[in-house]
Amino acid sequence: MSKQEAFIPGPRSAELFTAAKNRIPGGVNSPVRAFRSVGGDPFFVDRAKGCRIWDVDGNERIDYVGTWGPAILGHAPEVVIDAVTEAAKQGVSFGIPNPYEVEMAELVCDWVPSVEKVRMVNSGTEATMSAIRVARGFTGRNKILKFEGCYHGHVDSLLVAAGSGALNQGTPNSAGVPAGFVAETLVVPFNDREAVEAAFAEHGDDMAGVILEPYPANAGLILPDDGFHEFLREITTRYGALLIFDEVMTGFRVAKGGVQELVGIIPDLTAMGKVIGGGLPVGAFGGRADIMDVLAPLGDVYQAGTLSGNPLAMAAGLAQLKEMERIGGYARLEQLGVQLETGVRSILNEIGEDLTFHRVGSMFCLFFTDQPVRNLQDVMRGNSEAFAGFFHYSLKNGVYFAPSAFEAGFISCAHDEVAIGNTLEVVESALKSVFRHGI
Ligand SMILES: *Cc1c(COP(=O)(O)O)cnc(C)c1O
Repeated sequence: MSKQEAFIPGPRSAELFTAAKNRIPGGVNSPVRAFRSVGGDPFFVDRAKGCRIWDVDGNERIDYVGTWGPAILGHAPEVVIDAVTEAAKQGVSFGIPNPYEVEMAELVCDWVPSVEKVRMVNSGTEATMSAIRVARGFTGRNKILKFEGCYHGHVDSLLVAAGSGALNQGTPNSAGVPAGFVAETLVVPFNDREAVEAAFAEHGDDMAGVILEPYPANAGLILPDDGFHEFLREITTRYGALLIFDEVMTGFRVAKGGVQELVGIIPDLTAMGKVIGGGLPVGAFGGRADIMDVLAPLGDVYQAGTLSGNPLAMAAGLAQLKEMERIGGYARLEQLGVQLETGVRSILNEIGEDLTFHRVGSMFCLFFTDQPVRNLQDVMRGNSEAFAGFFHYSLKNGVYFAPSAFEAGFISCAHDEVAIGNTLEVVESALKSVFRHGI
């Protein structure tokens, strides 16, 4: 894409980015924010409310990143602000049990079908890291099977063929992770039953668990083939390995109980994050009581956290989840998702571009390929230059999609028919511009 087509941040954003780059590696605290995969420089945010986000130069945009998933009610919902404010008056952290933790644990066990006991942590990364430690401690085995394109946070042993920001680096594996750390991690393509069978045939008696994003949402949005989850449930049970759903993205997002509720599969362990924290730094992992009871102080698998179960984070998460229930949020998100999907499909039809579009509830991804997308290899066939053009055009015209072709988009309950209608107009002209149809 040529320079004049790219979004140019306003002067205040540019100034902040220059200062940031002096003191923060790459100017950002998480790599995708640097816009590397689409080119150009990021804007800095002043504030966000509902489905909109304002940058420090005064530009307003409709946001489909939603702080990468957590903002399911939209930005700065009153209920969450009130809950955090009230909690803060009582003290911002104790490091001693507080009542919010119990209420949160009860809610998670009530909503998420597989979870009988749960422990709170501070990020999704901690949740998956701890879940695989529990799986290894419980089974007394070493190997973990993961899938190409699934992202489980920046856990050393899971940064192999990982999605999200790790893909944008062009080097899926991270420097600084010794080969020995990933020696116990097996990687196979998503939706590839034969590869899973082969891994179990060779390593079945040392397989501690299989971890997956049940709907992989960090390499676009990939959907499982019919029966794939059932197959994984069956083979893990047959070999005595644990099935671990990483629902950090999908949990409390695609349904109250995550993908496991939608597909009726009961994993042994589940990692959670994002929506559960209401925008504060939270993760959680839980599952079968007998498995979770291997954790200290009951068992000999160590796991801890100074700020885990933090009262502000628990209050924010509880307020958000209860509000979703109160307003019938999941049904509303499906309505808005249908509007977006119908609109996008009719635009694609009209301009004669047969791009692949995936959606589940409020999560969606437009792949810049006309081929079906079932795994990471298919995702990588997408036209990244066309995506970058689409991204920059949208950004310049008031719609913020994630600055990477490997991320899903998120609708919130604060989006409405008008915002989605406006978005579709921008999407139409963006696509026409990218594919040079009449603009
Ligand atoms: C975001 C994400 C993580 C990591 O969570 P952090 O809070 O960023 O550490 C792990 N797994 C999945 C599926 C995610 O989407």
